[in-house]
Amino acid sequence: MKPRWYAGWWSAARRMRSPNFGPRPSGTAVSLLVVHSISLPPGRYGGPAIEDLFLNRLDWSAHPYFESIRGMQVSAHFVIRRDGKLVQFVSCDQRAWHAGVSSWRGRENCNDFSIGVELEGLEGEPFEAAQYDALVALARAIARRYPVAAVAGHEHVAPGRKRDPGEGFEWHRLQAGLRASDGPDWDFPESATRGNPRRSR
Ligand SMILES: [Zn+2]
Repeated sequence: MKPRWYAGWWSAARRMRSPNFGPRPSGTAVSLLVVHSISLPPGRYGGPAIEDLFLNRLDWSAHPYFESIRGMQVSAHFVIRRDGKLVQFVSCDQRAWHAGVSSWRGRENCNDFSIGVELEGLEGEPFEAAQYDALVALARAIARRYPVAAVAGHEHVAPGRKRDPGEGFEWHRLQAGLRASDGPDWDFPESATRGNPRRSR
């Protein structure tokens, strides 16, 4: 069956409901996609710790790194695992807790108007082809349902404070994938596309 949206839930994603969300301010259009990277502990892939963190059931004592984030209550709308599998934690109609203190094109509090996507990975390290494919497919699906036509990294909306997804993320791959599809003319951060040979300056 063709994937569909149901009350902000994308049917192609495995659903795990995080309690970490709230309402978007009334009348706020969802207009931005924020790309993150996460791995728990950092650099270790495949375990259940990301889900556990977003579901507030991470055992803080299980790893020294977890102690450093003890009590943290966060979420993202989506996580894309290394193999491209997609998990959704918060309805896109709701406000997830991924960007923190942030601003995009002069607008503060990106959580209000964005959808957060976490790629399982580590800042500085490369991502998998399956993750780019999943991200492009997801971005296209989001753009069909919401007036989203801009994408930025956490590092772009919280510069100096956050560095994810980091230099291992190849923005031109996302850009090429989105350009090849129907849909909006996506707005990318200038610094992300610098050095992209397909973009004249
Ligand atoms: Zn982030």
